[in-house]
Amino acid sequence: MTLNYDPADGLRFWQALEKLPGYPAGEHAPIPIMRFESDLLFELPAILRLAGADPAQPCLVVMDHTPMQRLSRPLKPQILQVLNRAGWHAQAVYAEPDATGQVHTDMPHIEAVKAHLQPGAAVLAVGSGTICDIAKHAAFLFDREHGGRLPFVVFQTANSVSAFTSNMAPTFIDGVKRTLPSRYPDALACDLETLAGAPYEMTSAGVGDLLAAFVSMADWYLAHQLGMDPTYSELAQRLMGPLDEIFLQTAPAIRSRSAQGMAVLAKLIALGGLAMSLSHATAPMSGYEHVMSHTLDLLAESAGMPLAMHGTQVALTSLLGADVYEHFLAEFEPAQVKIDACYPDADAMQAVIRSTFLEVDPSGKAGDECWADYRQKLANWHAQRPAFEAFLHDWPRHKAALTALSRPRHRLLEILDATAAPTTFAGLQPSFNAEQVRFAFLNAPLLRKRLTLGDLLIFMKWDRSRLWRSVWAG
Ligand SMILES: [Zn+2]
Repeated sequence: MTLNYDPADGLRFWQALEKLPGYPAGEHAPIPIMRFESDLLFELPAILRLAGADPAQPCLVVMDHTPMQRLSRPLKPQILQVLNRAGWHAQAVYAEPDATGQVHTDMPHIEAVKAHLQPGAAVLAVGSGTICDIAKHAAFLFDREHGGRLPFVVFQTANSVSAFTSNMAPTFIDGVKRTLPSRYPDALACDLETLAGAPYEMTSAGVGDLLAAFVSMADWYLAHQLGMDPTYSELAQRLMGPLDEIFLQTAPAIRSRSAQGMAVLAKLIALGGLAMSLSHATAPMSGYEHVMSHTLDLLAESAGMPLAMHGTQVALTSLLGADVYEHFLAEFEPAQVKIDACYPDADAMQAVIRSTFLEVDPSGKAGDECWADYRQKLANWHAQRPAFEAFLHDWPRHKAALTALSRPRHRLLEILDATAAPTTFAGLQPSFNAEQVRFAFLNAPLLRKRLTLGDLLIFMKWDRSRLWRSVWAG
């Protein structure tokens, strides 16, 4: 299976992208170096130079304390050795775990890394999504405060999440996950032996994070048609190609962790990050399924529990989201919509959000953070009533478009089975019970300002309790 667009193609890749509808004007090869190769570890000194780093200056290697293996040898000491032998001044900068025993992307972690940065230094992130996001955002904030731009290279240690090529940083603010504008890396290095050495759960999580597309692309289209999201374009779909077919063909290679399997998955993950960044929004890869996952994170975070692997959790919420689309596409009757009843007033919704999130965070902070975002969506929904009326009028066309963008639950299950990924919330670490998942299913739309199918169902007073029972039963 060849990809429509291969990020290993260097400038040719970027030239092909620039011709796509929706490609941002004036954005020239934002990540000029992306390599997916065997033994790329030993090319790191050359990649740093190409990224603009100066060997005479310190090279800050941002990582956590998790031991990692590459061909049965410890990875992190090898990286420092490769750099120092080539004459670089590599200095390890460690992100420390918090009370849950995990490192999370939050401002204290970002500030702690930023305190080590200095003008002229290069930043090399060695890790999976969280470490790369922390290093990226620390470099971004440093750049903004000091002017200039630190050379920033990502050495991706797992195919776990579509974050490595993104210019945004998902960050916990008052316990709620928010996407902050950040920067691109100058280079992405995918050493195939390192990726194959990552725990397999991380690899299957990377597949899971991308399955979001079968819900989120439909949500994005929906929000656009309802007048709620002007960023929509075909760019993301064209970039990703026929993702379900690619996954089913590549599943055996991913499961066996062959070099080819690792390279294809790493490239898809890179494309997923670019799909978001080039669309100036996470929307193409983050819809109802991601807000459900963020709500589960909020429940875990407020209970002081460690977070489950992001992509594994997203795969499961994507199953729910895909199921919701199936129901909606099969059952929706525009003639039955009572339009006047679809516009709840702000005071009523604020009260709902307050009381809902008080259960999770008695301080009220999480509820306030959610309302601050939600109120914008609600005001916009009121203002865009003509778009909703037009949408109802033109339903057959939109139904066809949404059907083409989404996939039935069984198709996603087929991919999860083929890649030996968990298919139930009981299989997550830590797991969630039905009550917790139900909370996320019903309340996720209250979490943020982006409209998804979950919002539309609330506004239309769809019987969501009945829908939940059906979706939970599978
Ligand atoms: Zn994600």
